Amino acid sequence: MKIIITGGGWAGCSAAYMARKQGAEVVLIERTDSLLGTGLVGGIMRNNGRFTATEELIAMGGGEIFKIIDQNCRHTNISFPGHEHASLYDIAKTPVAITNYLLEIGVEVKFIERVVKAHVTDGAIQSIETASGNVYEGDAFIDTTGTAGPMKNCIKYGNGCAMCIIRCPSYGGRVSLAGICGISEITGKKADDSIGAMSGSCKLYKESLSPEIIEALNTKGVAVIPIPKELIENHLSAKACQQYALKEFSENMVLLDTGHAKLMTPFYSLEKLHKIPGFENARYEDPYAGGKGNSMRFFDMAPRTNALQVIGLKNLFCAGEKAGLLVGHTEAIVTGVLAGYNATRHISNMPLLEISRKTAFGEAVAYVNEEMQTKEGLGKKYTFSGSVLFEHMKKLNLYETDVNRIQENIKNEGLWNVFAC
Ligand SMILES: Cc1cc2nc3c(=O)[nH]c(=O)nc-3n(C[C@H](O)[C@H](O)[C@H](O)COP(=O)(O)OP(=O)(O)OC[C@H]3O[C@@H](n4cnc5c(N)ncnc54)[C@H](O)[C@@H]3O)c2cc1C
Repeated sequence: MKIIITGGGWAGCSAAYMARKQGAEVVLIERTDSLLGTGLVGGIMRNNGRFTATEELIAMGGGEIFKIIDQNCRHTNISFPGHEHASLYDIAKTPVAITNYLLEIGVEVKFIERVVKAHVTDGAIQSIETASGNVYEGDAFIDTTGTAGPMKNCIKYGNGCAMCIIRCPSYGGRVSLAGICGISEITGKKADDSIGAMSGSCKLYKESLSPEIIEALNTKGVAVIPIPKELIENHLSAKACQQYALKEFSENMVLLDTGHAKLMTPFYSLEKLHKIPGFENARYEDPYAGGKGNSMRFFDMAPRTNALQVIGLKNLFCAGEKAGLLVGHTEAIVTGVLAGYNATRHISNMPLLEISRKTAFGEAVAYVNEEMQTKEGLGKKYTFSGSVLFEHMKKLNLYETDVNRIQENIKNEGLWNVFAC
């Protein structure tokens, strides 16, 4: 079995791990020089319903990626407005730990290789080709190219290129594998019907903040600093991550320690920022133009089944943001694992796995797919950690923080260790 994965964000890394675990030969192709994609500047895990989804995947025997993240956390079990029992991974150590793990288990990782062409016959991909002319043949393919950028989208639908971690000018912008195969893709909207959504956090150079803020971040992981009324900027409706679109996030500077100081707003004028006590010397680390804007996301999602097979191609699977309006690392990891697993089942002519809707994981995959068929649903974002999906989970009694009960549920649904063999 040979599986070629395009895009080394959290979804691609997780798909690679699972496909390899199932015995496939795996090539993971990444456009830039590092794995984790937007996860290079993320870090928040296990907040609210993400805890349940994380423990479910561990109980299903597919949780090694989560275990590596847990080992690389700077803070665990912290709270910040609207969010409980969160962990924050170290954004410098985690990408290296994941890369080393994937190499150790035998995944072939190709850096600075951007997929730009696909060769399709009889409704199946035969091979893909990168900008440097290398051709990769496979039995099944996984599209985990995400939905962020490229620059033309940030210019057209956002505030221009903000020079973010995606680094389009250096490595070339995102290219959708499903898109180049001729699949008609789906674009997310905001509630006001405008296209795309802006990433919801920036990173400040921690050492540029006051000693009191640094101390709070290092010891507690979180600092909440009220913004003087005349300096408040409200960017909540632009945010991709609606779980943080709470008034506490526009009235306060909410900072989280991921190595840098993660500032929970899409952008904020540097001039105004310097007027807030403690931020007089603040400096943006991501995006570099965080005073002006941020990356735009949720373009080009693939139509797919609940087994994460792309509709319209026999041997293409997808995960992460590519698989719908799913925001977050946890969401990318669980779908990545499922896509990697099902790609191997497809090659072996075995029935594809759909996860029971009596789990948070299965319900999220199916519910988002349904919601995306409606105009209203396309205007929302879905995450285990807040907003519509978390509310939906709570209504269905799928939010659980007792690990024993989560394990019991997974056993009852016949999913115990399903990914382990
Ligand atoms: C600034 C920011 C902060 C965030 N913070 C958090 C957080 O704290 N917690 C959380 O849970 N979520 C957070 N998120 C959301 C989260 O990062 C994403 O929803 C999730 O990680 C998406 O993963 P993905 O693998 O689907 O896509 P991506 O992370 O976008 O990865 C896609 C990968 O594909 C590569 N690629 C694209 N096209 C090609 C091609 N043609 N050939 C080869 N490679 C290609 C890209 O270079 C990239 O590495 C944040 C997002 C942003 C932008």
